[in-house]
Amino acid sequence: MRIEEFLPDVQKVLAEEGEPAYRLKQAYKALSVSLIRDWEESTALPKRLRTALSREAPAATLELLRVSQATDGTRKYLFETRDGHRIETVMIPEKERRTVCISTQVGCPMACKFCATGLLGIKRNLKAREIAEQVFVVARDIFPDRVSNVVVMGMGEPFLNYRETLLALKTLNDPQGFNLAARHIAASTSGLVDRIRRFADEPEQFHLAISLHNPFEDERRKLMPVASRHSIPELMSAARYYVETTRRKLFFEYTLLAGVNDQPRHAEALAELLDHPLYFLNLLRFNWTDTGFEATSKRDAKEFLHHARKLGLSATLRPSRGEDIDAACGQLAAKDLRGRPTIPASR
Ligand code: SAH
Ligand code: SF4
Repeated sequence: MRIEEFLPDVQKVLAEEGEPAYRLKQAYKALSVSLIRDWEESTALPKRLRTALSREAPAATLELLRVSQATDGTRKYLFETRDGHRIETVMIPEKERRTVCISTQVGCPMACKFCATGLLGIKRNLKAREIAEQVFVVARDIFPDRVSNVVVMGMGEPFLNYRETLLALKTLNDPQGFNLAARHIAASTSGLVDRIRRFADEPEQFHLAISLHNPFEDERRKLMPVASRHSIPELMSAARYYVETTRRKLFFEYTLLAGVNDQPRHAEALAELLDHPLYFLNLLRFNWTDTGFEATSKRDAKEFLHHARKLGLSATLRPSRGEDIDAACGQLAAKDLRGRPTIPASR
């Protein structure tokens, strides 16, 4: 993990100020271990340097505009980037777990038909610092609870912003820094095959999920434009490379859409497609977005799950979280705020 790539602006100030090399590590630890949001909080750094950094390379690159909390305890954070874009992050509590769902792009260009983020189009990629900082802010917010898991399942297609996303994940994993175990970090992709292979070759044991949503080529194309770029056999060949290279589980995400992909023939085709002991099917219920789709009923979703299991698939049906504040997968659109927040963030 190269700190100067993660903190280029800090590195520049240190060079200009003629500071010794170890200051970079001190600054990095202040951000990723002490979770400071203002250089003045970092008393390990000399006062003159704190002032220079605050002026030239502020500790916070994201401004926290608002935090909302759902009845199930899920918290959604609305941030503004320095250039005025808005992104969202979600913290999902579940027993001992505190999972943070982070964004990697402002919007998303993949245009999956059922996804609110996809409707926004893409404004820009986030920098590694902006990606990791989402986790730092949540960690500070929920203290003394600890962030136990990070999932890259917020706004954006992480593999279209591969370099910065990986740098952020490596930072979160760094034992000298935030120190979250790689097996507690997972990324989700809509299916960019060359990047799936590249991810398989990374030395860290990060987990991967692939958004499948339909086992039939023509039907998948209607849901996900990316399917026209990479066919299902190409996708499955990258999937096979991933499991054979890493020997890790591979998750396939499948959002059940009423009458669209929840029929018995879909379960049967999935059973044929996902024919490896390391493949797992994650069924999700559709979180409502104004995209013309309807969720499969709970009863039908359970029936689909049982059918899939009977056919030999390792499958789970994930409960949706944070729906009353639009904080579930595919609902992040940072849409509810044009002006300043009415309920200010606590920090
Ligand atoms: N951009 C990444 C991560 C998205 S969120 C990707 O597409 O893989 C994680 C999952 O939620 C993805 O499988 C995504 O397709 C799915 N999803 C998107 N919108 C959804 C919605 N409204 N309801 C349920 N799942 C949705
Ligand atoms: Fe982008 Fe993922 Fe939404 Fe598709 S589901 S538009 S890849 S964020």
